[in-house]
Amino acid sequence: MPVDSRFAAWCGVCDWNVDPAEPAEEPGRLARVRRTLARRHGERLLAEVSAGGALRPGKDTSALLAHGIALAVHGVTVALVAGGVWCVVGGWGNPVVVVAGLFLVALGWSLRPRLPRLPKDALLLYRADAPALYGLIDEIARVAGTRSVDVIAVDADVNASVTTCGVRGHRLLTLGLPLWETLEHRQRIALLGHELGHYSNGDTRRGAVFGTAYRSLTIWHYYLEPTEDPAPLEMLANLVYLVPRSLVSGLLMLLDQLTLRSKQRAEYLADSVAAQAGSTEAAVELLDRLLVAESVHIALRRESIRLRALPRSAGRSEGRQDGLWEVLAAHVESIPEHEYERQRRVGARRGHSVDDTHPPTHQRRACLLVGAPVPAAVVSDADREQRIAAELADARGQVARQIVRDGVDG
Ligand SMILES: [Zn+2]
Repeated sequence: MPVDSRFAAWCGVCDWNVDPAEPAEEPGRLARVRRTLARRHGERLLAEVSAGGALRPGKDTSALLAHGIALAVHGVTVALVAGGVWCVVGGWGNPVVVVAGLFLVALGWSLRPRLPRLPKDALLLYRADAPALYGLIDEIARVAGTRSVDVIAVDADVNASVTTCGVRGHRLLTLGLPLWETLEHRQRIALLGHELGHYSNGDTRRGAVFGTAYRSLTIWHYYLEPTEDPAPLEMLANLVYLVPRSLVSGLLMLLDQLTLRSKQRAEYLADSVAAQAGSTEAAVELLDRLLVAESVHIALRRESIRLRALPRSAGRSEGRQDGLWEVLAAHVESIPEHEYERQRRVGARRGHSVDDTHPPTHQRRACLLVGAPVPAAVVSDADREQRIAAELADARGQVARQIVRDGVDG
């Protein structure tokens, strides 16, 4: 039994102590249902792929139904605004009707679909700031069969993501430096492949229609919330709200369930793009790195606390954050194989996933390993890696400074 004081000691034969820190707080009911369903759908999809089935997006009736519901939700919003305008115009002169109309317009306006926007206080890199990095992403986008990204945001999360912003559809890639800095180059290519795979599969487009409707429903849910310690009249209102409120919760849950399957398929598909871009091997390594993301987060936190405690005197405050990324990368490099194996087993027991909609990481790993391994379509060389590192040097310094200054959430 290998023992490393930084990680749990456990037995690979009988699984003793494999999961010493079971989650202390139970997630909410909705999150629990999601997790269970995500696991079940994930297993079924994996079984399909293992049986030789293809992972094509295909026609998914539940996804179509969810789309229909989402459009209907937006339809209600439009009807509210239109009805309000009609009241104001038609009932001009009758203050009661006009006020009712204005109320409807305000209600509809608060429920309007709001597309994601470029983050205001984020560190943004445009093409001119990082030509080599954009060049790499362009190449990966060609492999993914999609257009490249328009802007890159760099932040302090152990994560990466893509979204489409605003009505003009600007593509935003968010790169968490604590993840990026701890990956080897080919794993970075796999990561970018996964993210661009979400664009080529249309996930962000579908996600926008669905996400905005989901948000409108959440606002409805908030409006219909019962008053606490109600007076008699409020008690009556609470009673009246009960039916529409249950309807809204029901719709939220239904939408969740209807889209889970296509979301899972989307993740597997994005993983296959990751493999095409950076090779199957790199995509599998990337998933392993995601398995230990928690450990990276803890190491980052520890290091930020240590650096903050350093004396500020003698001009040291400026360079306190120097070496943060090196320490983090060295930590990841030093994680022993038995810890990865433990995380895999914990994942199989608990259903570990990046969040509660992703398929469990061990299933994604298994799915990648089903077919024959594919070689990398995009390779890199030392020169390019150096140029990309130089382009990111400024961002590295800024994000490190921010991490040391603000600390890392627990
Ligand atoms: Zn994904």
